Amino acid sequence: MSDPRLAGIGMTSARTRERLVQRLREQGIKDEAVLDRIRNVPRHLFVDEALASRAYEDTALPIGFGQTISQPYVVARMTEALLGGAQLHNVLEIGTGCGYQTAVLAPLVGKVSTVERVKPLLERAKLRLKELGIRNVRFRYADGTVGWKAHAPYDGIIAAAAPHAVPPGLLAQLAPNGGRLVIPVGPEGAQELLRITRRDEHYVRERLGGVAFVPLLGGLA
Ligand code: SAH
Repeated sequence: MSDPRLAGIGMTSARTRERLVQRLREQGIKDEAVLDRIRNVPRHLFVDEALASRAYEDTALPIGFGQTISQPYVVARMTEALLGGAQLHNVLEIGTGCGYQTAVLAPLVGKVSTVERVKPLLERAKLRLKELGIRNVRFRYADGTVGWKAHAPYDGIIAAAAPHAVPPGLLAQLAPNGGRLVIPVGPEGAQELLRITRRDEHYVRERLGGVAFVPLLGGLA
């Protein structure tokens, strides 16, 4: 990486990032392609400059509008669960936020369609991803609870905000032959990460452990 802003210095340097990757390995992340994205996506560009020195800590950080950039471990875990050894061509993401999860995921799949209900966040994410040369993403300002029908079916759907129950519209937009949805579900303080795999009209649920996400809200901000 020759651009010094992308490469990072000091607390955003390659060595700091490598420590984060090591930590995620210790916590059980195994997919090398995912770890490579965590290493190479400049997370410090997705947060406020005042927080850049904390960008490679394994924590969520504020991005404005009451929202947060997800914790790297959670992004890695969800991406790994979504990919699950398969080659995904068409992925839907609910809750673009600052676009960090999108940047980790996009080069690992064919195409990402991403939906966000806070317009300024979506606009900023668009700029960042363009800056990073990521081009296989289409963006939509909308309520993602109902998915994005125009590009369905999806072989993967990933949600970065937690509904109380799995939205039926998302299940309906999964490809019948193994499409999978990775989503946090439940009220604040009692959320669980789920992976739901569709086999025709059967939906197989796996529980991936407790998590803490912002709520999936209806309507536009
Ligand atoms: N993916 C982001 C995390 C963003 S936090 C990252 O990589 O850091 C979750 C995001 O979901 C917030 O930006 C929030 O505005 C958005 N969100 C919440 N409810 C939504 C809905 N119904 N439709 C679309 N986006 C939603």
